Amino acid sequence: MRTWLAVLLAAVGLCATAAAAHAQGDVYVVRPGENVSQLAARWGTSVEAIARANGLANPNLVLVGQRLIVPSGDGGALAAASTVPPPALPHRDLALPAPFASVRLSPQQPRQGQTVKIEVDLVEPARLTGRFQTETLRFAGDGQGGQWALVAIGPLAVLGQQTVYLTATTASGGTTLLRLPLIVRDGHYPVEDFYLDAETSRLLAPELIEGEAQRLEAIFKTGESLPLWMGPFIAPADGPITANFGERRRYNGGDARYHEGIDYDLATGTPVRAAAHGIVALAEPLTVRGNTVFIDHGMGVYSGYFHMSELLVSPGEAVKPGQVIGRVGSTGLSTGPHLHWEIRLHGINVSPWEWAEGGFP
Ligand SMILES: [Zn+2]
Repeated sequence: MRTWLAVLLAAVGLCATAAAAHAQGDVYVVRPGENVSQLAARWGTSVEAIARANGLANPNLVLVGQRLIVPSGDGGALAAASTVPPPALPHRDLALPAPFASVRLSPQQPRQGQTVKIEVDLVEPARLTGRFQTETLRFAGDGQGGQWALVAIGPLAVLGQQTVYLTATTASGGTTLLRLPLIVRDGHYPVEDFYLDAETSRLLAPELIEGEAQRLEAIFKTGESLPLWMGPFIAPADGPITANFGERRRYNGGDARYHEGIDYDLATGTPVRAAAHGIVALAEPLTVRGNTVFIDHGMGVYSGYFHMSELLVSPGEAVKPGQVIGRVGSTGLSTGPHLHWEIRLHGINVSPWEWAEGGFP
């Protein structure tokens, strides 16, 4: 009972002005498992009175966190009060606590390997931070008062409902936490077996893979905060695709990994192009990936180009889409000349197809 009262009092305190403008009723925040019939019984009023006071088209549909005006019991006064125009605020999704005005996740039910875009509108200026599992989200302004961020759903992401956490901090220092449900669906990636000769297998040694992964992690932790790219990425080369993103791979019958990008079958020496505007974050020979370039596109987005015979850019260099950054080769863990191209978001591999086809934001 004490908890319930605390919630009610907090809600009344925060919304005193809005409630007064409405109907001299108190404001209640809907909690899990509650419906309008229960609330009507508890408050000694009717479902119809609650629906009228809150302009509910369907009183059976209320959401956890939604704010409801508690009718004062005077049905006639409430009916009249409900015709009073609401206070002049930007459009506000009733299920959201201030300062969140609206939040959109697209898609809301991503498949493994997809990139999710979060768009947030606020009723007052606030600094946004966010988290999804191990990812720290980076927000940028959309130029129209809203903010957006991206979330990587890895190819091996756990299926089912997960939660994105957003925190808004207003100028007064008040913080509001918002939990957004996200449903991860199966990417239905095929599984393939690969058998490598002894010398190539040597390159799969855990210490080599780990060392290289740590080298890359260090790069993905830094980088530009704001987006450097605009619109869709371009493909780094034109050529037949021999391995697709996300395919599960079992090397010599061992644990399944997945293919982290797209492989293009190309002759040695074919030019490799930058996919979008960015800054070269890494250009060096690596044991497994061979001659490698990673370009930082800002906001935690990187594109990677592996196995090249030649590197034509240096770290710190700004590149333009289409600029030749290297040449196709077969260096590192490779069985023939090809280009491996991948996109990382917060260090996690996501499908490059989405970035090349539709693009973000
Ligand atoms: Zn590859």
